[in-house]
Amino acid sequence: MRNTLYIIGLSSLIFSCTSQQNAKKKQYIPRTPSVQPKTAGQTSANDKPKPKITSDHGVEFFTTNIADITKNDNTASYGSIVSAKPAGYKVVKTYFPAIAQNFRQRYLILHYTALPDDKSITVLSQQAVSAHYLVNNTGDNEIYQLVDENKRSYHAGVSAWRADKNLNDTSIGIEIVNSGFTTGAAGKRTFMPFDEAQVKKVAALVKDIVARYNIPATNILAHSDIAPTRKQDPGPLFPWKKLYDEYQIGMWYDDAVKQSFYDLATSTDFQSKYNDPTFIFNVQTQLQKFGYALDLSGKWDDATKKTIEAFQYHFRPQNYDGIMDAETFSILQALNVKYPTK
Ligand SMILES: [Zn+2]
Repeated sequence: MRNTLYIIGLSSLIFSCTSQQNAKKKQYIPRTPSVQPKTAGQTSANDKPKPKITSDHGVEFFTTNIADITKNDNTASYGSIVSAKPAGYKVVKTYFPAIAQNFRQRYLILHYTALPDDKSITVLSQQAVSAHYLVNNTGDNEIYQLVDENKRSYHAGVSAWRADKNLNDTSIGIEIVNSGFTTGAAGKRTFMPFDEAQVKKVAALVKDIVARYNIPATNILAHSDIAPTRKQDPGPLFPWKKLYDEYQIGMWYDDAVKQSFYDLATSTDFQSKYNDPTFIFNVQTQLQKFGYALDLSGKWDDATKKTIEAFQYHFRPQNYDGIMDAETFSILQALNVKYPTK
């Protein structure tokens, strides 16, 4: 009995391997639709090139970015196809692909785990939080994928940037193994540096994701940017400037523009107007314009201070005291010139 089961099991294994090989060899032949669609213009839909489909490990992909038919970089992971398989019917994907579509993946959010390697894996794979990718710090060349890019991972929590909220819906989350910070006697946070090899991994991963989904620089953010009152990660030692300079990733200000705002700020009496509600309102407006979710209270309230601190983690990491000094303010204004809200 056991032998019979073994033989059945073995033969079905061989059968499934063979059928997989056959499926791989099978060429996809596009069919002409039996009913011509009505179009507003002179050209028929049939004249347009049909998007090609490729298959890898049983998953189908459009090899053309069908939202932009002129752009085809032959990346196998462009627009993976998950579609219905209704019993007795055939779902056809190449006849009428709509150009009115975009990717759901519009943001890329970076985190640190505040845990060592082994605990990071356990927490992010076995508990109520997760991320699409986990960049370990074990010195190998592996990056762990925990969640499919087409699915939501639970990394952002309550979050907002510009007009968007709940960024779990629209983002890819990357967790980086790093122990976070320790808090000193005066409440000052001391953050842990990132390993050079780990930063290289993060850069390669981010570049790949950003290119495939056309994620703009304004949407490559820290967890602390999208949840400034709750989060500090990946903190002031995460090398945003290096990523910008060496890998063309994310946002950074132009020095000359920053300098002109700095000259303006220091030529006027920056300190004397510091507690003027009009000035505070202006600072809050600039922060909100840049992307932070913030109430325009006209007061240096806790949310405003934490938002300034989050901004400093990202763009003025030498001093993250949560005080809007002349340098921080000139950097903020320079960024608003370079990355205006559309
Ligand atoms: Zn985080």
